[in-house]
Amino acid sequence: MNYSEKEAYPKHPRRRPPDPVWDHFFATSLKSPSYFAAKCKYCSIQFNHEHPNQLKKHLAKECEDENFDNDIREKY
Ligand SMILES: [Zn+2]
Repeated sequence: MNYSEKEAYPKHPRRRPPDPVWDHFFATSLKSPSYFAAKCKYCSIQFNHEHPNQLKKHLAKECEDENFDNDIREKY
């Protein structure tokens, strides 16, 4: 028998969007598989169908949670 080794690694039910800005947001799948809702890990604000640029703008200018790291802000 010749089983594929890939079967040892079950697919993740959720694919993460590729942009690194998503490191700072939780991505939640919506009904349509190509859309994600983004929830900020710091202030918990939620965005629907936002573009990565909007999320970066939030990190750069809008996020005001006290846990937010200014080093992150400098990157965006
Ligand atoms: Zn935030």
